[in-house]
Amino acid sequence: MGNDGGTIAKRQDILSLHNARSAHTAFAEDKGESKEQILLQSCALSGLPLYENNPIVGDFKGKLYIKEKILQYMLDCKLDKLKRQLQFQHLKSLKDLQTVKITWDVINDIAHFQCPVTKELDYKASYSYLRPCGCVMSYKLLKELKKSLKSLKSRETSTHIEAHCPVCNHEFTFDYDLVIINPTDKSDFSEFNEENYEYLRTVLHLSHAKEPLKKKKKRKSESEDAEEVKDDLIRKRKMDTDDGLETGKRIRA
Ligand SMILES: [Zn+2]
Repeated sequence: MGNDGGTIAKRQDILSLHNARSAHTAFAEDKGESKEQILLQSCALSGLPLYENNPIVGDFKGKLYIKEKILQYMLDCKLDKLKRQLQFQHLKSLKDLQTVKITWDVINDIAHFQCPVTKELDYKASYSYLRPCGCVMSYKLLKELKKSLKSLKSRETSTHIEAHCPVCNHEFTFDYDLVIINPTDKSDFSEFNEENYEYLRTVLHLSHAKEPLKKKKKRKSESEDAEEVKDDLIRKRKMDTDDGLETGKRIRA
């Protein structure tokens, strides 16, 4: 134990991953799936199908991953910074991921997202998930729910609209608990996700998984960090030497 944290991807692993991804995409394309649907049904890191690859996790940007694949990636990045990819740089720990629950409906051998409430399939609707419980459902459904709650609560002074998940009844807040899945080509959806996360982080000091964020010391650059370690070492060496001198003097005296 102790030294066995890392695994080196062998050529064979990479090849088999690549083949699995291509096979999955080719199969889905053959079945007439659009690029957008294939993207929705696949892990944003490995490209492998999400179906039957539980647990599935989501980030604040609305990307979904096979948990095992994204954890392996984060571990690899810790061991080798060169493995970091720009598009996943916001993923550093489990606090940046939330487990999501997808309802599937297999039609013509292709597994589709299905809204557990409206029963709509993924080619008909945009999907979203709720940060506190991870339930995946039609975004339109949540928009309509928000509208109806807003009119009910219009006389209240609070700007936050609390609600209960239509699937599992868990509490959530419309203002920052909604994540739109795969907001490709829709910049307002991306902004929606970014703004919600910004509020969560800067106002509530919570991570995407709603865990308290560590109070950050002033952000230091890596060179400043290195300087500090060096200073500490010099200080320690000086103290050791001073101690030595003191003891020496005392012995002589
Ligand atoms: Zn729920």
